[in-house]
Formats: sequence, C-alpha cells, structure tokens
Amino acid sequence: MSLVTSSPVWRPFTQHALQPGAYKIVHAEGAWLTAEDGTRFFDAISSWWVITHGHRRPEIMEAIRRQTETLDQIIFAGFTHEPAEALARRLVEITPPGLDHVFYSDSGSTSVEVAIKMALGYWRNRGEPRTRVVAMEHSYHGDTVGTMSAGARSVFNAPYEPLLFDVARVPFPAPGAEQETLDALESVCRAGAAAFIVEPLILGAGGMLTYGAHVLAEMKRVCETHGVLFIADEVMTGFGRTGTLFACEQAGIVPDIACYSKGLTGGAVPLAVTLCRHEIFDAHYAPERARAFFHSSSFTANPIGCAAALANLDIWAHADARARIAALASMQAERAARFAGDRRFSAVRHLGTIVALDLNAPVSGYAATLSLDLMRFFNARGLLLRPLGATIYVLPPYCVTAGELDAVYEAIGAAADQFASRAV
Ligand code: PLP
Repeated sequence: MSLVTSSPVWRPFTQHALQPGAYKIVHAEGAWLTAEDGTRFFDAISSWWVITHGHRRPEIMEAIRRQTETLDQIIFAGFTHEPAEALARRLVEITPPGLDHVFYSDSGSTSVEVAIKMALGYWRNRGEPRTRVVAMEHSYHGDTVGTMSAGARSVFNAPYEPLLFDVARVPFPAPGAEQETLDALESVCRAGAAAFIVEPLILGAGGMLTYGAHVLAEMKRVCETHGVLFIADEVMTGFGRTGTLFACEQAGIVPDIACYSKGLTGGAVPLAVTLCRHEIFDAHYAPERARAFFHSSSFTANPIGCAAALANLDIWAHADARARIAALASMQAERAARFAGDRRFSAVRHLGTIVALDLNAPVSGYAATLSLDLMRFFNARGLLLRPLGATIYVLPPYCVTAGELDAVYEAIGAAADQFASRAV
C-alpha cells in the first residue's frame, strides 16, 4: 500500500507527525474506494458519514451532469433558480410538518451556525433579551467558532477556548439517568434560555452515544413549556442513518429549527439547509432592514448541489430506499448481538444503520494513540474505519451487503484479539 507523503496539503483532523501519509483514492463506487496502487478499501464509515446510498449513485451523478449544462453557481440574493426552489418545496414536504422556511448554506457547521443565529435573531427582533444557548454534554456541532462553542470542550478545541462563548450544558441522558437531564434542562429553560441545540437520538463525534426517543420527546416538551427554541442538529442523523428518514420522527416531534447536510445530496457534493418554523422567519420580516437575517455564504444554494439533492429525494421517494434501511438495520442488529456478551467490548449499541461498541482497552499511556493504531490495523486489512478513541463504530453506505458487513465485524473481532487482550 503506497501512501502520499510529500504533499503541500494540510489534512483535516490530522497530526501530520503521527500520520505523515494518506492513501490516494482514484475511484469510488458503491461501498468501495480504490487507491492509485489498486488497493481497495471498504468504506465502513460512509466517508465521514456523508455517503448514504453508495458512492457515485448513478441517478445522482446523472443529475449533476445534467445540471452543469445550464447552471453553475449564481448569486442567491435577489436571484433564484429552479433547483433551489424545487428542493425547498420538496424539503418542506418531507421534513416534520411545520418547518416552512429553508435557508441554504454549504456544510453541517454552517447549517448549525445559521440555526444559532436564527434563534438569537428571533429573540432580539421580538425585543426579548434571550441569548443563552443550551447544549448537551459530549455533543458535537461542527468546527467553526460558534459550533465549537455549542460542542463539548476537549483537546480538539482547547487552543480556541478564549474565543468560545459560554453555553449552559445539560448532562447526557445515560440509561437510568434520564431524569437528571430533564431536570437540568427544565432549570436552565426556566431561567430563560434562547435555544436548546441537540443531536437527536445519537451523539456522533461525542462517541456514538445513543439515548431513547422518549427522552428526545420529553426534552422537546420541556423547551416548549418555557418557550425555548428547540434546534435539532440532524447533520449526521438525517437521511436514514437512525432507521427513519429523520431521527426526530421517532420521537414524533417537530423541532423549531432543523439542520441537515451530509446525506442531503446522498453525500455526493456539499450542501446544507437550515429549516425553521414560520414564527422565526416572521420575526425577521419587517420594514426595517436591520431586522433581516444577515447571513450568507458565497456558494449558497449551489444549483449543482441542489440538483444532486433533488435526485437524492427521488431515490427516497421509492419504497425500496426505506426497505433497504430496514434491511440494513436488521443486519446490523444481528451482528451487534453477536458482540453483546463479549467481554472484550462494552456498551454494544445499535441504532438504525449504526452500530458502535467500546473496546475494553487500557485507558492510559498508549490509549492516546489507540484510535490511530486501530485505524492502521483496519486500513491494513482494506477497511476504512476511524474509531473515536476506543469506540469502534460501523456506519456503512446503505448498499452494503451481508457478506461485506461480516468481513467488517470479523476485522473488529481480530482487532479486539490484538488490542483488548491486554485489558481482559
Ligand atoms: N453537526 C453534527 C451532528 C455533525 O456530526 C457534524 C459533522 O460531523 C457537523 C455538525 C459538522 O458538519 P460539517 O463537517 O459538514 O461542517
């Protein structure tokens, strides 16, 4: 396996001193990536959770090709185009009812920044001085300064700490401790918070931590009681990952603001949206320009991205897309069950298309590089997995076959033989 080592590229989330090289991928198809030297990698994490149906899904590729024949980027203030109009109409139809306005941006982080700004603009324009944002312990909402502020503090954002704004935090609703979360939320909401932002049902980068739909529903109820805006960050959970099109559906809730990105285009090209209830739009609707929502990015509503997203929604309109999710969810459940009593692992969890399990490995010393060691172990076996510390998770594209999944879990078992044996 050859690695590109001499390169001016500064890669994301990479300590170049520990990871000097990168595999150069020349072809992607279905659940597979092929490197320049012919090595194949099974993409068991959907290329950072973006690819939904599979790489280079033909209908999406075709829609992109077709769109390039008439439009590239065009300014989106004062001008519009049919791909953006059509996509907004379709999103309003398929997202939880009541999310009536669609604001475009280009990444998960920007969709969350937009959500937070919308919430604060709402309160300011109503003449009520609410600015407190409430977030959940262990949450991750992106890497811009605003989204890092809402996210958990860690080694990843320590250098920027002085720039981060303070948020109120409620504990993660661990099994048996859900009431503590609800009580803490009740208390900060009663004090007059502006908004509560949450990853519904599963905290992704925080360690694939799952909690029940009933807790999500209760958290929404608490926010509603105190008039606190409820922001659902569905950047990772959206478009089928949790077993339903959107995670909020499982709790039967409609957030006030919802953020979608990664799977919006099937993962093919970057695009993001923030949807909101009409009250939030209305609070910004006034004769004074100062009450407008002042946010934009150059590539807002990129027509090619919108065309890709429309093709993605066409795929979801067919029953077989949902049947595929259900089939994958049960394949994952079966495989997770095989590890349930395995003492090399703890907290084996499954939600929809996602499985996560914690490797029982020593937590000091070499644990600092455990995730890198595991990553290399899997890469050497033609597998793209990026454990979060000792948490190994499998979040595959929906086109994965039973045989391919078996190979992933076999490799996880082999990793446990090598890495967990020291602890057990
Ligand atoms: N919110 C959540 C829940 C995420 O999982 C992520 C990315 O993983 C983001 C926001 C940020 O998205 P992006 O990396 O596209 O900026």
